[in-house]
Amino acid sequence: MTLRTTAIRTLLDTLHVTGMHRLSTPVFGGLGAILMFHRVRPPRDDAFQPNAFLEVTPEFLEQTIRAVRQRGIEIVSIDEACDRIRAGASEPRFAVLTFDDGYRDNLEYAVPILEREKAPFTIYVTTDFAEGTGKLWWIALEEVIAANDEVVVPVAGRDVTVDGRTAEAKAAAYGTIVRLLRSSETGTRDLAVSLAERYAFDFAGQGRDTCMTWAELTSVSESDLCTLGAHTVTHPSLARLSDEAALREMREGAERMADKLGSPPRHFAYPHGGPADAGGREFKAAADLGFVSAVTTRHGVIYPDHSAHMTALPRISVNGLFQAQRYLDVMLSGASTAIGNRFARVNAA
Ligand SMILES: [Zn+2]
Repeated sequence: MTLRTTAIRTLLDTLHVTGMHRLSTPVFGGLGAILMFHRVRPPRDDAFQPNAFLEVTPEFLEQTIRAVRQRGIEIVSIDEACDRIRAGASEPRFAVLTFDDGYRDNLEYAVPILEREKAPFTIYVTTDFAEGTGKLWWIALEEVIAANDEVVVPVAGRDVTVDGRTAEAKAAAYGTIVRLLRSSETGTRDLAVSLAERYAFDFAGQGRDTCMTWAELTSVSESDLCTLGAHTVTHPSLARLSDEAALREMREGAERMADKLGSPPRHFAYPHGGPADAGGREFKAAADLGFVSAVTTRHGVIYPDHSAHMTALPRISVNGLFQAQRYLDVMLSGASTAIGNRFARVNAA
């Protein structure tokens, strides 16, 4: 566990023990919250799991749904939430359950729970992932570091060598590479090419194994509870692209979904979604393309003022490193918004 994770847990524990999150509810509770999930699957016992923050267990998903409802918060579809935001309806508070990227484990583990609980949900689809031609580089990097004692990858035109002999070294290596990638324009593209060439990483196999196919997405979307939203073609950090390339990613992702699924998506999620990945230009593009809403990974609950910023909505990450009822209580109260953007992970997928 990193020092940072420990510090956040301590802070959340303090808020919980002092009951500060209860005191702050009327002030910070807002109209509701959009919760963000990625993978949902049983726990693994590998010591090296740099993407653990992106996955929760099926049990914790179920616990989250119950905790939300026990607080009198209504779980609604993203369309219903948008209506409530525009109306400024503050009672009852709402929660939207959103799942990014289109992981197959959502179909296997999350959908049966959501159906049983009759909880509406939204899945944001990256079309190349559904096509089987995508590159989930953050998972590829994890697998390559897990399998090698030393890893050499190109970042910003030069080779970086990292030590991966122990689980601690692997975690540090992963963190170093992700940090370096953030400052590099074409970083993740070069990285993916290199993982395939030097380490024979099988992206085609990853595509087949990790994400839902169009046929699976079609079957999920037949549920009344399901909304499918757009999440670009290749999952880039949009803010790093030219105007033209960013717009193309957003538009073509929606067009391919309309082609494959029969109706155009009305909602959008920015890949990675932090301040360095999506800003004013992307918020305007999402509105111009006709999306009813677009969500970031910036941390926060929804306030009436967001009705003027429907394509820049914050979310609350249900972070796999904080799978306990007490953390959920604090985050759902909105108290964590008041202590800043400490839960957001810059490399959130
Ligand atoms: Zn994503």
